[in-house]
Amino acid sequence: MQHSKFAQVEDGVLIGATQIASPNFNVRPDGTDIQLIVIHNISLPPSQFGGGYIQQFFQNKLDWSLHPYFQTIEGMQVSAHLLILRTGEVIQFVNFNDRSWHAGRSSYLAQKECNDYSIGIELEGSDDLPFEKEQYQSLVEVVQTLQQAYPKIQNHIAGHSDIAPKRKTDPGPFFDWPLFRFQLSAAKLSKKTSFDL
Ligand SMILES: [Zn+2]
Repeated sequence: MQHSKFAQVEDGVLIGATQIASPNFNVRPDGTDIQLIVIHNISLPPSQFGGGYIQQFFQNKLDWSLHPYFQTIEGMQVSAHLLILRTGEVIQFVNFNDRSWHAGRSSYLAQKECNDYSIGIELEGSDDLPFEKEQYQSLVEVVQTLQQAYPKIQNHIAGHSDIAPKRKTDPGPFFDWPLFRFQLSAAKLSKKTSFDL
């Protein structure tokens, strides 16, 4: 079995992830269980990678004057629990026990306000470029670990475009859902087999 870099969650913290604190969160409503993963894409400026601007944006530290696009998002206070960079590096901005501000107005299986009960994962990417294999690998490891830590997630994994279809298009047509689901089930199978042996 391949060693997973992100095999454990402790008190809402993903072990193995780089920790950067975002102020953009609040408490989940009382008695709300985590039961959904929402997958997004983001790049700042759009379709450009690296530079650290997403990290600055989620910390409310982005210099809006650096790029015309930044001015269109000026003052927005958003976050995600996790960001997976093009290299596969995983950054955690918000503790899973807290409510990150990633989904906005949204609804999943007739349940509104997905931020209340979901974990938001951003992939550094765009709607018009393929994602990197390192990103799928990290995503699979992370999702597998989150499904174990928060069993109510089960197979409730949605794209932002699924829960806010009129407003959002991400993770976009280049996010390969069949590949992701295949890799996730293969990873689970290999884990199960290694236990059986
Ligand atoms: Zn999104």
